[in-house]
Amino acid sequence: MSRLDAFIRRLQAQRTCLGLAADLVAGVPGPVLELGLGNGRTYDHLRELMPDREIFVFERQPMAHPDSAPDPDHLIVGDIRDTLPDARRIAPHGAALVHSDIGTGEAARNARLAGWLAGVLPPLMAPGGVVASDQPLEHPGLDRLPLPQGVPAGRYNLYRRLAIVAGSP
Ligand code: SAM
Repeated sequence: MSRLDAFIRRLQAQRTCLGLAADLVAGVPGPVLELGLGNGRTYDHLRELMPDREIFVFERQPMAHPDSAPDPDHLIVGDIRDTLPDARRIAPHGAALVHSDIGTGEAARNARLAGWLAGVLPPLMAPGGVVASDQPLEHPGLDRLPLPQGVPAGRYNLYRRLAIVAGSP
């Protein structure tokens, strides 16, 4: 498969998974946390999918096009390892949806960050909240969900936070 085809398929999978995730959290109160603004493509898509939802974006180096950037009150600048643990301040009852798209071409770095993230996320989420992630996040507090039809295993990852997680709202 050419790199162009692989890229297109990854974006199609991402869009399909975000659509399903938005449906799954329709009845779950709480904001959305977008981890990794990049050029703002998925942020823009999330706000179109969920126009009534508050969306907070975490990014260490914001460089999105101004049309696809959150207002300063919804942009948390810094490394997520410093900023995310404090997310209860903006989501006191937990986030309904977390979308994490922070992978780079460096597999070892991605695995380290994903391992850290898997441990931090469950207590920051509302019961029944969903995580969509480019990286696998294995944690006993996160239940892996089946991917939508047409998205091959491993191309994206969906989880639901279990009802009871230690330290959670
Ligand atoms: N979802 C975005 C889009 O569709 O436009 C693309 C996100 S891009 C692949 C990954 C982003 O995550 C980059 O902007 C990078 O700066 C950010 N990022 C990576 N590691 C991070 C970290 N540890 N803390 C904060 N941001 C991080």
